Amino acid sequence: MARVYNFSAGPAALPEEVLKQARDEMLDWQGSGMSVMEMSHRGKEFMSIAAQAEADLRELMAIPDNYKVLFLQGGASSQFSMVPMNLLRGKASADYLNTGSWSKKAIAEAKKYCEVNVAGETPSGEFTVPAAESLQLNPDAAYLHYTPNETIQGVEFPYLPENGDVPLVGDFSSTILSRPVDVSKFGVIYAGAQKNIGPAGLTVVIVRDDLIGGAASGTPAMFDYKVQADGESMYNTPPTYGWYLAGLVFQWLKRKGGLAAMAEINQRKSAALYAAIDGSDFYNNPVDPACRSWMNVPFTLPDAELDGQFLSEAKEAGLVTLKGHRSVGGMRASIYNAMPEAGVQALIDFMADFEQRNG
Ligand SMILES: *Cc1c(COP(=O)(O)O)cnc(C)c1O
Repeated sequence: MARVYNFSAGPAALPEEVLKQARDEMLDWQGSGMSVMEMSHRGKEFMSIAAQAEADLRELMAIPDNYKVLFLQGGASSQFSMVPMNLLRGKASADYLNTGSWSKKAIAEAKKYCEVNVAGETPSGEFTVPAAESLQLNPDAAYLHYTPNETIQGVEFPYLPENGDVPLVGDFSSTILSRPVDVSKFGVIYAGAQKNIGPAGLTVVIVRDDLIGGAASGTPAMFDYKVQADGESMYNTPPTYGWYLAGLVFQWLKRKGGLAAMAEINQRKSAALYAAIDGSDFYNNPVDPACRSWMNVPFTLPDAELDGQFLSEAKEAGLVTLKGHRSVGGMRASIYNAMPEAGVQALIDFMADFEQRNG
């Protein structure tokens, strides 16, 4: 059975090498006589898998020693509540940047816990981010939250927002590991795994030590960064298989040359696709060129009537899950780390051919 090029926004394609390794180790992990899925999370085999995955992630992202790495459940959406629960520390208000669908969800959740100051906003229907100079930042905010890559709009921050000592919190779900990032600029980085890390069910949280231990009273144990950090993400049964697969992805990234090498590849892939879109009168990408995502590329056809035909012919050509999010319409190609350059080229070739036949 042939594998397709899968442009899904998430759960998304995984590196084929990783899937093959997982297949080969499925029934008997390294002579243990059992699958990783069947192991006690407190046994020495799984403890070694867990420790190696954390060490590899720390190395890939150059995570400083004063940060904890947590392997949790609940998705990025749980962090929408965990962040205010843990970071408000008695303060009444937090700053949020609103640049698209995921920012809006984070803001709606935070409003249950505090006053939200929307310090910068993308006008509805636009695909850009507010200029750094225009942000109305509160020097007394508990933290500043933003979404470096809006997965649905395909909008990415070309700069790092900063507000002095106010902790910066980033929802990195769809951009983590796509390029190097200076972790020391952040209070918290979090990401659901199913876009650029591994399978759904795992959530990675990188949190600075001084932000741990201040959870509001009444915070459930599972939602308290201190409980999770003290328990080394094993306060309860962690998502063991997702943690293991993430570890295989981290090793794959190291073999590929790490995040600087991934950045070059991702930059090349997205530039080729944008060039193909911009070079045609048929396809259109609505995003401000300064804020175009390397990971999620929405594009429309001149007539939405053609969408169905485009999708079905693409599928026949082995290019799947290109349908755009209903809020944006058209198509969306998600081209995370696991999408090979050949997959992007196959899409570009198909698009040119489709345009020629229908333009
Ligand atoms: C997918 C996504 C989410 C939601 O993630 P879940 O793990 O499903 O909760 C949140 N933020 C961003 C930027 C996303 O891409």
